[in-house]
Amino acid sequence: MDSAPPPPADGTDDHPLRAELRTWLEEHPTPSGRQLAGRGLVAPHWPPPWGLGADPTLQLVVDEELRRAGVRRPENTIGIGWAGPTLLHAGTEEQKERYLVPLLAAEEIWCQLFSEPGAGSDLASLTTRAELDGDEWVVQGQKVWTSYAHRAQFGILLARTEPDAPKHQGISYFVCPMDAPGITVRPLVDMTGTHTFNEVFLDEVRLPRENLVGERGQGWSLGKVTLGNERVSLSGAGALWGMGPTADDLVATVRDTGGTSDPILRQRLARVWGEGEILRLLRMRMVAAAVAGVPPGAEASVRKALADDHGQHIMDLARDLAGASAMLDGTGPAPGTPDAGPWPDAMWSYGFLFAPALTIGGGTSEVQRNIIAERTLGLPHDPEV
Ligand SMILES: Cc1cc2nc3c(=O)[nH]c(=O)nc-3n(C[C@H](O)[C@H](O)[C@H](O)COP(=O)(O)OP(=O)(O)OC[C@H]3O[C@@H](n4cnc5c(N)ncnc54)[C@H](O)[C@@H]3O)c2cc1C
Repeated sequence: MDSAPPPPADGTDDHPLRAELRTWLEEHPTPSGRQLAGRGLVAPHWPPPWGLGADPTLQLVVDEELRRAGVRRPENTIGIGWAGPTLLHAGTEEQKERYLVPLLAAEEIWCQLFSEPGAGSDLASLTTRAELDGDEWVVQGQKVWTSYAHRAQFGILLARTEPDAPKHQGISYFVCPMDAPGITVRPLVDMTGTHTFNEVFLDEVRLPRENLVGERGQGWSLGKVTLGNERVSLSGAGALWGMGPTADDLVATVRDTGGTSDPILRQRLARVWGEGEILRLLRMRMVAAAVAGVPPGAEASVRKALADDHGQHIMDLARDLAGASAMLDGTGPAPGTPDAGPWPDAMWSYGFLFAPALTIGGGTSEVQRNIIAERTLGLPHDPEV
């Protein structure tokens, strides 16, 4: 066992909690989701007892120590990334007590029942209704593009409770158990061949009164809390909403497989690498602002808009560099064999097929640019249609 922890790789000053954390990880080399949640390591920036109330420096320390110990966090993207923060923001003590620990431990998976066939970018036009009947809400409507609905135990649901109020004011926010009678989940298989999202039909679904989150009619402002967290969650370093390969990975793969002499592809590689650097610097500015206690300002919206385009540029370029082998699913000829092409990894072919979704999910790129235009550049508001 090390007597003193080495300085962190990124050169930041060491943190007093690092040694304590490292000892805990040595004592728990294969922690369960619940143990990680109990120790506050799943979402360290959440307040205790669910997190550590960690500032960005401590978050980096936790990330480094988990990586060093080879420990992965539980996966529950929507639960941990955006349902949980909304429950923390507006949930009752009972709701926090009931839902947050199983959510952090990924013992209960969550989905997001927001988009409808007629309400995506203009989410406030949603028509799913919830009517109070005694002590129960009765929900009627349809949702679409609901990622993980087929695996989820709970969904965060937006439904209209005040049909006569202006559209942004008549919406409420609920927790919806996905096994409630009246819920039908139908799969939608996307062009990667993967089943991630679904249509969800809600036919006289009865929710207990206490499943309302926040005040009745306050759903729009809570939905914005959820979507704000979604946009931050989707803006990591990898090409696919923070996951998957980066521009650096693409350049390294090209270099490791002999480079390319095609002048156009070389130009595009340099450009995509430059985009990656700009995004990395923007992310560092966001972290630096957070450390200094300054709100991130325009960087977050700008980063989301740039990162989605960047992910598509990486995947388009990977396909063009690979040529015909890009059409393979990654199970084709082994790397180094005459027919292989430089991209044997299934991630690239999956990534290329998934990339069009980047500028749609989490708010389309046009909507992101509207937000930048209105809130940052002070341009006139997008006309309502
Ligand atoms: C991979 C993926 C996962 C998803 N998961 C979920 C989920 O789990 N839960 C959920 O609720 N939803 C989910 N969605 C849905 C997503 O939120 C919507 O697709 C998105 O909000 C866009 O809505 P829409 O598809 O109805 O397109 P529309 O809103 O109909 O937009 C169509 C086109 O018109 C453009 N447009 C619309 N309004 C404007 C405007 N004012 N100005 C300029 N252009 C405009 C759009 O940019 C787009 O190009 C997911 C989507 C994807 C791609």
